[in-house]
Amino acid sequence: MTGAMEIYQLLPKTNCKECGRSTCMAFAAALLSRDAVVDDCPILKEEKYRDNYENLTKIVSPVGNASETGMIVHEELCTGCGNCVVACPVNVAEDPYGAGAGKTPTNDKVILRVEDGIVRISNVEDCRRFGENKILCSGCIVTCPTKAIEFI
Ligand code: SF4
Ligand code: SF4
Ligand code: SF4
Repeated sequence: MTGAMEIYQLLPKTNCKECGRSTCMAFAAALLSRDAVVDDCPILKEEKYRDNYENLTKIVSPVGNASETGMIVHEELCTGCGNCVVACPVNVAEDPYGAGAGKTPTNDKVILRVEDGIVRISNVEDCRRFGENKILCSGCIVTCPTKAIEFI
């Protein structure tokens, strides 16, 4: 997973505070927790930081794309094996004769399904990590052989 130090290495490291944070490291942490976006650092817009800006945007974008549950799917790592689809307890409960039986989902109530060889997420509000009564379910994470799913 992308870490604060990895992000920090691409920042200007001037601690100029123009982003509203006291240090570049604090800004790196804010990027990681989705409290800031790359564009909040005006220094990165300078020509000499162009490569840093582009690389940062690339490595931070999965964080920004995390669903409400904090779920990130690294599509480039997904092999479409379907392990997570049949392991998700919500999928099993909502689709007992499809995902629950180890098969392709048969309805739209599932959270995880494989389409075109890549896992897709929907109905994230039903994920057991979501909402007031959330629990730290990790069915999809532990069954993924390639670490394509993570939560931040
Ligand atoms: S504006 Fe950019 S260079 Fe200045 S402290 Fe924030 S992250 Fe560092
Ligand atoms: S965390 Fe649990 S409920 Fe949420 S998608 Fe993964 S397996 Fe399903
Ligand atoms: S996310 Fe992981 S477990 Fe799910 S289909 Fe992709 S490779 Fe398989």
